[in-house]
Amino acid sequence: MMKTSATVALISPSPLTQRSLLVHRYGAVGARPKAYLQAGLHADELPGLLVLHHLQTLLDKAEENNDIIGEIVIVPVANPIGLGQHLNGHLVGRFDFETGKNFNRDFPNLTTAVLEKITPQLTNSAPQNVQLIRDCLQTLLQTKTLETEPEGLKRALLRLSIDADYVLDLHCDGEAIVHLYVSKHHEAQGVQLGAQLGAKTILLEDNAGGDPFDEANAGIWWKLREQLPTSIPLPLACFATTIELRGQADVDETLARSDALNLFRYLQRCGLIAGHIEPLPTALCEPTPLEGTDVLKAPIAGVLAYHKTLGEYVHAGEVVADVVNITASSPEQARIPVISQTDGIIFARRLEKLVRPGESFCKIAGKHKLAHREYGKLLGNK
Ligand SMILES: [Zn+2]
Repeated sequence: MMKTSATVALISPSPLTQRSLLVHRYGAVGARPKAYLQAGLHADELPGLLVLHHLQTLLDKAEENNDIIGEIVIVPVANPIGLGQHLNGHLVGRFDFETGKNFNRDFPNLTTAVLEKITPQLTNSAPQNVQLIRDCLQTLLQTKTLETEPEGLKRALLRLSIDADYVLDLHCDGEAIVHLYVSKHHEAQGVQLGAQLGAKTILLEDNAGGDPFDEANAGIWWKLREQLPTSIPLPLACFATTIELRGQADVDETLARSDALNLFRYLQRCGLIAGHIEPLPTALCEPTPLEGTDVLKAPIAGVLAYHKTLGEYVHAGEVVADVVNITASSPEQARIPVISQTDGIIFARRLEKLVRPGESFCKIAGKHKLAHREYGKLLGNK
C-alpha cells in the first residue's frame, strides 16, 4: 500500500486565480478505522503545519514497514484562502477578508437533510446504520450549490473528513498551553488524547454554538440520535476535537517533533498503526466545562500588565492583570485591576498587549459553570 497525494481544486474566485487543497492518504481507501488530520483552518495558526510535516515523516516510515492498518488522511494546509491574506506585512488568516467571517464557524449542519433521506432505511444493525449515514453524508456533500470560495472550501474539507472515525483539527491560541476542545459526549476520548499530548486543560463542550469544523463532523451523530427513536441503534461514530497547540509564536522544531510523535502514538492506540504501543502518560488535568471558563475582558482601553503568568493556577478574586490607562493624569489612578471569577488555570492569553474596552484577553479554566457564560455562544466569534 503506497502513500498517495492529490490536489482538490477549489472554485476559482476570480479570473486566472485558483486555489487547491493538498491531500495525503496513507493505507487503503476505505480501511478502518479512518483518521483525518488538518492544520491551519485558522490560517495564521502555524504550529500545526510544522507538526503535520513531522507526522508525515513518521507515517512514511510506518507505511514502508507496512504498519498502516486503517486509513489516514492528512490535509497539511486546510485554508489556502486565509494563508494568502496578508495586510501590511502580516498574515491575517482567522477571518475571511471578503466577509469578515471566522473560517471555523458556520460549517453546514446536515442533520435534517440526513434524517429526511435515511429514516425509512434504518435497521436494528448499528454498523449498517453507520454506513448508510456516512454514504448519505457523502452524497449530500457532493451536491454542489451556488457557493463562494470559502463555502466551497468548507464543503471540500468535510468531504474528506465526514466519514472518519477520528478527526483532529490542529489550531493554536494567541499565547497558550496545550489544550483541547472536546464534546461532553467524548469525555473519555478527550482525556486519553489529552494525556498523550500533555494537555493541562481539556474543555468539555455542551452546546458551544457557532458550528465549528469539529462539531460538523462529530455532532451529526448525537444530533441524529436525539431525533431518532431509541430502538434504532446508532453509535457516536466520530470523535472530533480541536487541538490547540500552544500559541501563535510556538512554531518550534523540538515541540513539533514531540507533538507529532504523540499524535503518531495516539493513532497507534486507536488501532490505525501497528507496532509497540507505549504506555499512556499520566493525565495532567481533569476536564473542565467550557461554561466554567472565565473569559477576562478589558474594562477600558489600555496596556495589559499581568500579575499572573500563562499556565498559573489562580483563585477567584485574585487580580490577574491590571489594564493601564497610559493617558491617565496620574499613574496612581491609571490602573484598573481585572480579577478572576473562578479558581482555575490560565490556559490562554491574547498575544497583543494593547486592549480595547470589552475585549477578551485571558481565559481561565474553572471547574464550576459560571452564570454569565451563555450556552450556544461559548466560542464567541473571536
Ligand atoms: Zn483556531
